[in-house]
Amino acid sequence: MNICVVGCGYVGLVVGTCLADLGNNVINVDTDKEKIQKLNKGISPIYETGLRDMIERNLEEKRISFTTDIREGIQKSDVIFIAVGTPKKDNNSQDLSQVRAVAKEIAKYMNGYKVIVNKSTVPVGTADEIKKIIKENQKIPHDFDVVSNPEFLREGDAIRDFSSPDRIVIGTENERSKAIMEALYKGITRTGKPILFTNTKTAELIKYASNAMLATRISFMNLLAPFCEKTGADIKLVAKGIGLDTRIGPRFLQAGIGFGGSCFPKDVNSLIWMLERQGCTAEILRSVVDVNEVQKRALIPKIKKLVPNLKEKYIAIWGLSFKPKTDDMRDAPSIVIINELQKLGAKIKAFDPEAIENAKKILKNVEFCDTPYNAAKGCEAVVLVTEWNVFRDLDLLKVKKLMNRPNIIDGRNIYEHEDMKKLGFNYICVGR
Ligand code: NAD
Repeated sequence: MNICVVGCGYVGLVVGTCLADLGNNVINVDTDKEKIQKLNKGISPIYETGLRDMIERNLEEKRISFTTDIREGIQKSDVIFIAVGTPKKDNNSQDLSQVRAVAKEIAKYMNGYKVIVNKSTVPVGTADEIKKIIKENQKIPHDFDVVSNPEFLREGDAIRDFSSPDRIVIGTENERSKAIMEALYKGITRTGKPILFTNTKTAELIKYASNAMLATRISFMNLLAPFCEKTGADIKLVAKGIGLDTRIGPRFLQAGIGFGGSCFPKDVNSLIWMLERQGCTAEILRSVVDVNEVQKRALIPKIKKLVPNLKEKYIAIWGLSFKPKTDDMRDAPSIVIINELQKLGAKIKAFDPEAIENAKKILKNVEFCDTPYNAAKGCEAVVLVTEWNVFRDLDLLKVKKLMNRPNIIDGRNIYEHEDMKKLGFNYICVGR
C-alpha cells in the first residue's frame, strides 16, 4: 500500500518504519527540517532499540522516504496516518492544534479517496471533528473516511510492540475503510495477533482507558509503599503475592517514584477532564494523579535521612529518562527530584546512557557525566532514578570507593538490602 505518516516523532517514526518494513511504500512527513535532513541520512533523531537499522534498511530498499512536503505525502498515498503531538493544555485538556492543522492540509491537497487514520491519542469525538474539518476545507470534494487506530507501543520496546502487539484496535464507521485497515495490518494479524473493530469513539476511549488502568496499578502500589515502610511489610513481595493471582497478573505493580513520560500523566489528566466535562465522576483517577505527585517527591526525605544537610553537597543521579531504553525526558520524575534537591542547595552530578542530550535542554546547573562511576565520584549519595540495566551490573565496591560517603537511595528497588549491607552501603529503597 502507499502510506503517508505525518509526524516523525516517537510514534510516527516507528509506525512509518515498521509499515515500510512490512513491504509498504511509506512517505514520512514532518515540519521539522533538521529531523528530516537527519532521517534522509539514515540518522534517527530519537533513541529507540533497533530503529536506526530498520530506517537504514528501508531507505536503502527505497520503501521509505522522509520529507517536509506534506502535499507529496498526501497525494501519493491511499492511507494517511496522523501521528503528531497532542500535548496537555493548562486546563488538562489536550491541545489538538497539530492534529487540526494536519486535517486542514489533508483537505487542501487530497486528490482522491483517502483513509485518514488517527494514531495520535485524541479525545473521544475527535474522529468526527477531523471529518468535519476536512469536509469544510476541501477545495475539490473527494470521498474519504476517518479511522481511529490508537497506538499502544512502549518507548524502548516500540518496534517489538508495533510489530507484535497484544491487540490492534481500529475504530471505523463503514466497511470500506474497515477492509482497507484489515488489509493493511495483515502482515501483523497473520501471526495470530487479534484485531478489535469498534466505532471511532470506542477506539478513542480504549486508548485512554488502557493508560489510565496501567497508571492506576502503579499508583495503587505507591499508595501501599509508605504503609509497608511503616509496618515492615515488603512491597516487592506484596507485588509478587498479588501478581501471582491470575485475575491480577504481575505487570505494572512496581512501587517506585511514580510514573512520568509523555503519555501517562497527560492521558490520565485528559481522561479526568473528559469525564468531568460530561458530568461523570473521576475520583479514582484524581487519586491516581495525587498519589503520583506525592511519590515523585518521596525520595527527598529518604535522601535527607542519609544526608541531613544538602547544602553544597554533591548528589549523583543515576538515570534521567522517564523510563529505561529511551532518551525521552518528557515529564520525567528525575526533573522533579533534581529541582527539589537543587532548592535544598545540593550540587547535582548525573549519568544516563541515552538521555543526556535531551536532559541538557531541560536541566540547569547539572554536571553531566559519561559513566555512572564518574557521576558517583566525590558524592555524598547516589540516587537511582531510572532502572537502566547498566546499573544492575556495576562494580559497586568501586562505586563505594569513589564516593565521599556510601549512601544509595534506590528509587526503583533494583538492589537487595542484604547485598548492599554486605557491601557496606547505607541503603534506602521504596516500600521495603
Ligand atoms: P512527538 O512530539 O515525539 O512527535 C510529533 C511529531 O509531529 C514531531 O516530530 C513534530 O515536529 C511533528 N509535527 C507536528 N506538527 C506537524 C505537522 N503539521 N506536520 C508534520 N509534522 C508535524 O510525539 P509522539 O511521542 O510521537 O506522540 C505522538 C502522538 O502519539 C501523541 O498523541 C501521543 O500521545 C501518542 N502516543 C505516544 C506514545 C509514546 O510512547 N510516545 C505512545 C502511544 C501514543
